[in-house]
Amino acid sequence: MILFNKPFFAGKEIDFLKTVISQGKLSGNGLFTEKCEHFLESNYGFKKTFLTSSCTDALEMAAILLNIAPGDEVILPSYTFVSTANPFVLRGARVIFADSGPDNPNVSVKSISELITKRTKAVIVVHYAGVACDMEELMKLVKRHRIFLIEDAAQAIDAFYKDKPLGSFGHLAAFSFHDTKNITSGEGGMLVVNDPKLMARAEILREKGTNRAAYTRGELKKYEWVDIGSSFLPSEITAAFLYAQLQKLKSVTKKRVELWNVYYKLLKPLIGVVTLPDFPAKYIAHNASIFYIVCRNQKERKNLAEYLKNSGIQTAFHYVSLHTSAFYKKAYPKHKPELPNAEMFSDRLLRLPLYYSLTLSQARFISRKVIEFYKDDIVTQ
Ligand SMILES: *Cc1c(COP(=O)(O)O)cnc(C)c1O
Repeated sequence: MILFNKPFFAGKEIDFLKTVISQGKLSGNGLFTEKCEHFLESNYGFKKTFLTSSCTDALEMAAILLNIAPGDEVILPSYTFVSTANPFVLRGARVIFADSGPDNPNVSVKSISELITKRTKAVIVVHYAGVACDMEELMKLVKRHRIFLIEDAAQAIDAFYKDKPLGSFGHLAAFSFHDTKNITSGEGGMLVVNDPKLMARAEILREKGTNRAAYTRGELKKYEWVDIGSSFLPSEITAAFLYAQLQKLKSVTKKRVELWNVYYKLLKPLIGVVTLPDFPAKYIAHNASIFYIVCRNQKERKNLAEYLKNSGIQTAFHYVSLHTSAFYKKAYPKHKPELPNAEMFSDRLLRLPLYYSLTLSQARFISRKVIEFYKDDIVTQ
């Protein structure tokens, strides 16, 4: 069976974990937390980074940092994971869902612009599959309306828009190191703070609302409760594991893009029957976080997934569009937004296996099986 996902192992994880054990400090904000944060700041130009226990945690920190409160509206795509929405619902905001584009699961900037009101406090965008949203139009929009921009960059480590790293555009950005992502610490995440006004407070929120970080640096004689906050800081065990992975990040991206390119090249004859990822490669350097195809309907997707499974290939699909979810329908019974593109991707998008240890010949085999499934359609096209 070709599995849908296998987490990446860099090789040095155990060595670094041994260092953590020998140092006798397991809790967070030690040597490896600093190493990871320094690596990410110096290689990607992020102004300030904070490792967290998950991307969900990073987004919760973002919602607190922006003082999101009842009465605020936040606009986000419907076609995304629940963690893009939950942190803002937890603060009492109303979530307003925007639609995807017709040929890209990323949120459409036009759809966002039509939803902005006096109450709009922030926009959260998701770089789906590590493919950048239209950052030029987005930056213009949020500047014009003076609203905060948060990038849910969970899938977007080492991906770029016009040579600028994703995660360096928004006031805030959140990354994930969950084991379904390109590099991982099992569970893990990072908040990027690009707005200098938000940096000092982020450090306090992460340390349960205390000024412990300043105390640890020797700036204070004691530490105490100074703000709200929570336990968002990951342990040194997590950070050490992640540091091993960060050192291999470039080769991970390279291998994944190679596999992605094999899929794209071999499946290209299917364009017109199915839809393949489509974005301006001139501006966008993606990180091959996901390879997907969009089938013609939900039934066809089910049949294709079954056909591949019978050939020993595991696939996956995802995101019940949030505006059609059980929670949203219960929480907002009167609101029934029409988001046809989000629903289309929910019904028809299928993800193929893509991970570092997948071989090029496995990717070719999978592509051949997909072509085989569609052979009658290609002949009659
Ligand atoms: C994976 C993912 C998350 C959640 O990441 P965690 O680290 O598991 O909290 C959030 N948003 C998107 C778009 C994701 O893909």
